[in-house]
Amino acid sequence: MTTIKKIGIIGAGQMGSGIAQVCAQAGYAVTLSDISEAALEKSLAGISRNFDRQIQKGKLSETDKTAALGRIVTGTDLSIFGDCDLVVEAATENEALKRDLLKKLVPHLKPEALIATNTSSISITRLAAATDRPAKFMGMHFMNPVPVMQLVELIRGIATDEPTFEAIKELTLAIGKTAAVAEDFPAFIVNRILLPMINEAVYTLYEGVGGVDAIDTALKLGANHPMGPLELADFIGLDTCLAVMQVLYEGLADSKYRPCPLLVKYVEAGWIGKKYGRGFYDYSQTPPVPTR
Ligand code: NAD
Repeated sequence: MTTIKKIGIIGAGQMGSGIAQVCAQAGYAVTLSDISEAALEKSLAGISRNFDRQIQKGKLSETDKTAALGRIVTGTDLSIFGDCDLVVEAATENEALKRDLLKKLVPHLKPEALIATNTSSISITRLAAATDRPAKFMGMHFMNPVPVMQLVELIRGIATDEPTFEAIKELTLAIGKTAAVAEDFPAFIVNRILLPMINEAVYTLYEGVGGVDAIDTALKLGANHPMGPLELADFIGLDTCLAVMQVLYEGLADSKYRPCPLLVKYVEAGWIGKKYGRGFYDYSQTPPVPTR
């Protein structure tokens, strides 16, 4: 079984940053890349702020913060992954982009290096086929925000071998997470259930059954959800929500997964949620204000 000591992460957005933070904090050497220098700078600043919050709560020392940050190196070139034992792909949720990225990545890797993808919905078997090592490839689906959420879904592709599965399961436990195993079907377990609920909440808004505030309040107080579905959609990113619904709709060929036209319109407008500053809420104001 591969011993994982050095972890590469591709994509320094909300998920890649969180994965880098928890891996570095657990003592792993981390190599983090993005096509955007600005994303890398924002990511490191965010990780540093999260560590500061932990220091304020007495959960982390300044020395540990410095050591953890010192374990993260960044860059924009895929050649930086040459000495990694595992690379976790956490780039934008788009199959063509991920396949292209994986094809370009493999020539830089050690032959024994493992690859995991953090995709929310795309077939692990299809993504594995874009690499030279489908047996050493699997899904490692973290939840958002990574430092807070306990679960990692583990998904084998059709060719994933047991040593790869065991090595990634061991890593999952070593970084303090709990694993749930899912089969390789569109959107796996969590998003197969969660995203249709969010999509239905957008239909509820679209059809005028309730406004943003009423829908979120109804689910928070009526179903005891910690966040309303529209607030959660903004947090996930409406672009990611739409991408997952499209994978469900096409992959399962069932009209019940049809993405709500209002979700499509928001994404087309660029109103993709909290990371953009506007989605179902306007984040330029404190507290955020419902937009409908
Ligand atoms: P994000 O938009 O915050 O970040 C994506 C990052 O990928 C961006 O910084 C972008 O510059 C970078 N990127 C795009 N193309 C790249 C390339 N070719 N090479 C290197 N970097 C590239 O998105 P996110 O929310 O972090 O999602 C990333 C992945 O994690 C997606 O597959 C998503 O489905 C999955 N995911 C998201 C959530 C969530 O709640 N947002 C939860 C679990 C999994």
